[in-house]
Amino acid sequence: KCPLESSRMLNLDNRIDAELDLFSRHDVQTCTSWSAPIIWQGMFEPDDYDQEHKSKGSSVALTVFAIGRYLDAYLKEFLHSSEQHFMLGLPVTYYVFTDTPEKVPDIKLNPQRSLKIIQVERHKRWQDISMMRMKSISEQIESDIRHHSTHVFCFDVDQLFTGRFGPEALGESVALLHAHYYRLPKWLYTYDRNPKSSAYLETGDFYYHAAIFGGSWRSVKALADACHRSIMQDKKNNVEAVWHDESHLNKYLWLHKPSRLLSPEYCWDTSLGNRSDIQVHRLLWAPKYYNKLRIA
Ligand code: UDP
Ligand code: MN
Repeated sequence: KCPLESSRMLNLDNRIDAELDLFSRHDVQTCTSWSAPIIWQGMFEPDDYDQEHKSKGSSVALTVFAIGRYLDAYLKEFLHSSEQHFMLGLPVTYYVFTDTPEKVPDIKLNPQRSLKIIQVERHKRWQDISMMRMKSISEQIESDIRHHSTHVFCFDVDQLFTGRFGPEALGESVALLHAHYYRLPKWLYTYDRNPKSSAYLETGDFYYHAAIFGGSWRSVKALADACHRSIMQDKKNNVEAVWHDESHLNKYLWLHKPSRLLSPEYCWDTSLGNRSDIQVHRLLWAPKYYNKLRIA
């Protein structure tokens, strides 16, 4: 048992067995070998987490990048859905990074929520747009986020919230199991296998998806700094990791184990069809139109 979840169960001693069963899932892995919980629907009482984080004074910065054509294609729907499902009840600050600040839609935000726009350059290659997010995230944490938010969550923009994405997802260092890999044997994980890359990884724990990661501002800054450093190291050596920032993220999370993992219920791709272990869709992949959206 993971220490965290079992202590919750102890608190429930006086509840009946049927209720206790709510807090466990027997069909999926709910705990890592280093005792980090993997959060699945049915394992937690949402109200407990809402109360806990409200009383602790947790606040969340959400970073999202909308550069080039991705802004018109995804940003409005992303923010709109987030207002309906992301960390409701906690203070949330959106950090929208874009090359065209004037095009950021005017979204009506709920109380205790605000949005900041950060202008960034538009790199020519989509691979660089994706990878250079690490640098912008780190800089923004240092200059602003750390003074205002306890936690940071970093999101791809090409997705939509469709269900509760609440404080049960908050932790010191949070990573997401990739929907396409969580059931596959490790030898199929697409880590970077080029020994010349600093993202090179022979074996890992899981295949993590770079579309969502988070944690305390301190640990997200450490992650972003380390990934940016190894991306720049690769550039110096004229190599590029097979899945760009995701390869570097996987390497980092192998060396620095996350304290909390999110099940693919937190970022599901409906093209995978119905799966009995995916009991809820909290966020869904939006359709990808690479040939139309990616410039260069
Ligand atoms: N992105 C962007 N403009 C681009 C390419 C990427 O804003 O031209 C940002 C956007 O937030 C996107 C993220 O970088 O969600 C990662 O790229 P993408 O979603 O295309 O990668 P994939 O999901 O295919 O790994
Ligand atoms: Mn994406």
